[in-house]
Amino acid sequence: MIAPGPILLLGAPGVGKGTQAKELVQLWGIPQVSTGDLLRANVAQGTPLGKTAKGIMQRGELVPDSLVNEMVAVRLQQPDTAKGYILDGFPRTLAQAHWLDGRLDATACCEPAQSLPLVAVSIQVDYNQLLRRITGRRNCPVCQTIYNVYSKPPQRAGFCDVEGAALTSEPMTRRRHLRSACAHTLPRLRQLSSIIASWEDSRK
Ligand SMILES: [Zn+2]
Repeated sequence: MIAPGPILLLGAPGVGKGTQAKELVQLWGIPQVSTGDLLRANVAQGTPLGKTAKGIMQRGELVPDSLVNEMVAVRLQQPDTAKGYILDGFPRTLAQAHWLDGRLDATACCEPAQSLPLVAVSIQVDYNQLLRRITGRRNCPVCQTIYNVYSKPPQRAGFCDVEGAALTSEPMTRRRHLRSACAHTLPRLRQLSSIIASWEDSRK
């Protein structure tokens, strides 16, 4: 039985991390751990961490790294991560990367998946292609089907194939979001790459 161990998926928003993660989940039967999903699940289930996060978000503030880290730590204690797991969108900051580094070292002795080498995958897509992918996206507000005017157009332009609802988009805000996300992601990726390189050296 293949035990892939911990896998990090890194990349700008819209680069396809979620899609790649789902393929790896199917291939290896290991769970995808997305911090966005974790946050929503903790809030929905009313866990102590979720209640704290909800209060912070209701004040319009960002959930701090320490809280996100704790949610990841709790999730990684679940038995389904024994053979490995895919971290999707985490670590997102240097503080999270340092925390993960420390946790992998601390748990290498007693959690099988943690002692396997860490694999970091950085997904990179050409900026213009990424822009097309994001600005071309159209959502059906009724059945939530996602289209793309370039790569997956509906049969009738602007309307859902399923029930015919008018599709929605927000290309300008997305374009702005992408620009700032790319500006932030590039230096962060460089920093993360050097950290990850040192993790891999120390684990040889
Ligand atoms: Zn629809």
